[in-house]
Amino acid sequence: MGRLLIIGCGGVASVAIHKCCQNSDTFTEICIASRTKSKCDALKEKLEGTTKTVITTAQVDADNVEELKALINSYKPQAVLNVALPYQDLTIMDACLACGVDYIDTANYEPEDTDDPEWRAIYEKRCKDEGFTAYFDYSWQWAYKERFEKAGLTALLGTGFDPGVTSVFSAYALKHYFDEIETIDILDCNGGDHGYPFATNFNPEINLREVSANGSYWENGHWVETKPMEIKRVYDFPQVGEKDMYLLHHEEIESLAKNIPGVKRIRFFMTFGQSYLTHMKCLENVGMLSTSPINFEGKEIVPIQFLKALLPDPASLGPRTVGKTNIGCICTGTKDGKKKTIYIYNVCDHQECYREVGSQAISYTTGVPAMIGTALVMDKVWKKPGVFNVEEFDPDPYMDMLNRYGLPWVVDENPQIVE
Ligand code: NDP
Repeated sequence: MGRLLIIGCGGVASVAIHKCCQNSDTFTEICIASRTKSKCDALKEKLEGTTKTVITTAQVDADNVEELKALINSYKPQAVLNVALPYQDLTIMDACLACGVDYIDTANYEPEDTDDPEWRAIYEKRCKDEGFTAYFDYSWQWAYKERFEKAGLTALLGTGFDPGVTSVFSAYALKHYFDEIETIDILDCNGGDHGYPFATNFNPEINLREVSANGSYWENGHWVETKPMEIKRVYDFPQVGEKDMYLLHHEEIESLAKNIPGVKRIRFFMTFGQSYLTHMKCLENVGMLSTSPINFEGKEIVPIQFLKALLPDPASLGPRTVGKTNIGCICTGTKDGKKKTIYIYNVCDHQECYREVGSQAISYTTGVPAMIGTALVMDKVWKKPGVFNVEEFDPDPYMDMLNRYGLPWVVDENPQIVE
């Protein structure tokens, strides 16, 4: 039983909010807040009358710690779920610490302005020390560990699908199937078709920054970096079929390398069609993916933000997307001295998601686990002081809730492996 403040009312937030409303025993009251209160009001209007959860809304700029503190102090939630953008992670964590409430998110910190010299100096040192060049990493949020511990508060990081469910799948595999895990391959397949020549399934700026960056994987205690889309494999996904997939850097590799003892290799693959890649390369070649502002007819614009304005809103893809996603982990290792391989995955149907909550499967597969992680913190099942990734808690209650809240999973003990 408790009161939750949710920051954000976009694609992922909308699903998380629908799911909180299906779990009114835990979420007796929620407040939806973003910069545009009218969007939060529209969501409230849609859901009121369908749930026992009492919904209110508020306006807040989550880049501003003082505004956040004022909202938290007046609403007095037990926890804050951050489903805004990774840019707001640190300001929201600061406000939670100042007001004494728990913090939950789905993506690790990334700065909006990657040209900021202060951030850039720290970033360039990290690239050298760690060996990967992604703009996002966990160091910023892990640095809050002691402060959350001292305050007796929980910060739960990365409870979406990947990171999130894939990390819980890995913890579940270790708990129930292995003495030691040697390798983890995370496979993220979207077999959906929205009928547009080019669109992204979640926030275009975050999505395009991620997939146009160098790839990397973890092997024998260090990072190996690749050129963007340099490593390609073909995989026959259950209920979806054969797809091309490409190795990407992904944030859960960093935390799993730390939290799965003895793991030797962790890779992440995502499927892309040729048309998506051709469009992205062309946009990149002409400078449209740049995050550095340019002057256009006397006005400063950021090319990738302008592109975002041109692309279809991911929230509008729901009614037109057909097909399924299949996301999961192939783990190899040993049990009782014998070699073993398992594949844990979830298959999600875009149209079924749309019928249930009005969103496509990418938002659904992220929003459902956002609600689950938050419920486990609020119900004090996953409650301890400090800053944690999801694989650091007992996976069983989370796995159980995935089955109950729309993301059932399968364990295949004889899967096709990735070479
Ligand atoms: P959207 O762009 O659809 O929504 C972002 C929301 O954040 C909007 O409602 C926006 O509302 C709000 N917002 C942005 N800036 C601010 C601000 N300064 N203050 C308050 N609110 C703000 O994004 P998505 O829903 O697609 O993605 C949400 C998050 O989920 C992202 O962090 C993304 O990285 C993460 N994600 C995680 C995945 C996973 O599997 N772990 C997969 C997919 C996404 P307004 O403009 O009104 O302020």
